[in-house]
Amino acid sequence: MKFVAFAGGVGGAKLADGLSRCLSPADLTIIVNTGDDFEHWGLKISPDLDTVCYTLAGLANPETGWGRVNESWQVFEQVQQLGGEDWFRVGDQDLATHIERTRRIKAGQPLSHIVRDFSHAWNIGQTVLPMTDQSVATFVDTVEKGELSFQEYFVHQRCIPTVKSFRFDGIENAQPAPGVLEAILMADAIIFCPSNPWVSIDPILKIKGILSALSGKKIIAVSPIIGGQTVKGPAAKMFAELGIQPSALAVAKHYAEIITDFVLDAHDVQLTGDIEKIGIRPHVLNTLMISIEDRQKLAQNMLHFMKRD
Ligand code: GDP
Ligand code: CA
Repeated sequence: MKFVAFAGGVGGAKLADGLSRCLSPADLTIIVNTGDDFEHWGLKISPDLDTVCYTLAGLANPETGWGRVNESWQVFEQVQQLGGEDWFRVGDQDLATHIERTRRIKAGQPLSHIVRDFSHAWNIGQTVLPMTDQSVATFVDTVEKGELSFQEYFVHQRCIPTVKSFRFDGIENAQPAPGVLEAILMADAIIFCPSNPWVSIDPILKIKGILSALSGKKIIAVSPIIGGQTVKGPAAKMFAELGIQPSALAVAKHYAEIITDFVLDAHDVQLTGDIEKIGIRPHVLNTLMISIEDRQKLAQNMLHFMKRD
């Protein structure tokens, strides 16, 4: 069977890694959000793509889930000493990725080619695709600070301002990256990783052609919300600020028109009846991925029911 996973950064990368440990590389394609991409220090940064690739390559920092393991910070410290911008941390090895990506983009290479070449250099066997080669920029409209670019909201303002709405600049003209629609059409099942529904999965779903390619497919979303809370990041806070009680049920409802199946955590077993009522098949599993074994076990359990059903 062939699988496609939609992923943001940290939550997405963990499940993508679990799946990569259970499937042959040719059977897994990961489509990654690029709505967080931005320029910093004059460099093109693709945080979610890098998190997914570093994780699959075994190069990710296990403490943070983002950035590189055994990282050094000499450049960052020097920039800081010179009074430069230090609200977004860039390690020395990570910097090399951004320098080379920027050079290639300036030379006219599409992002999808760059990701393909980097994946090859990092010995990643799975296919990792950006959602699009065009630039799409997530903006967060907030009560206190007005509209903020995503990294300004996420890193600089530490997700404190109250969210009113989201905007994905450039999304109308963005085409799916080469291979994206083909992978979806070839897939036996699509998995929405436990990524942020608002700012990681929604941008992918809003790219032209993706929703219609998904139609009629078996689509399983994994809840990033456990016991009403996010494991990490602002997803639960976003639901609450948009007037929706944060829960796994809220996530299932968010995707209700699109998905066929939903994985919720064992802590939320009492929500299965409500999920069935909205016409989605619930699957209760342990979804908290602390260790590598947790990632693999969750992926294995998902594959078990996906192959059976
Ligand atoms: P980002 O782009 O780095 O913010 O990462 P994602 O959008 O891919 O993932 C963020 C979401 O992952 C958050 O809403 C977290 O609650 C969720 N998440 C992180 N770790 C886990 C985990 O181990 N299990 C589950 N179910 N969700 C997780
Ligand atoms: Ca992200």
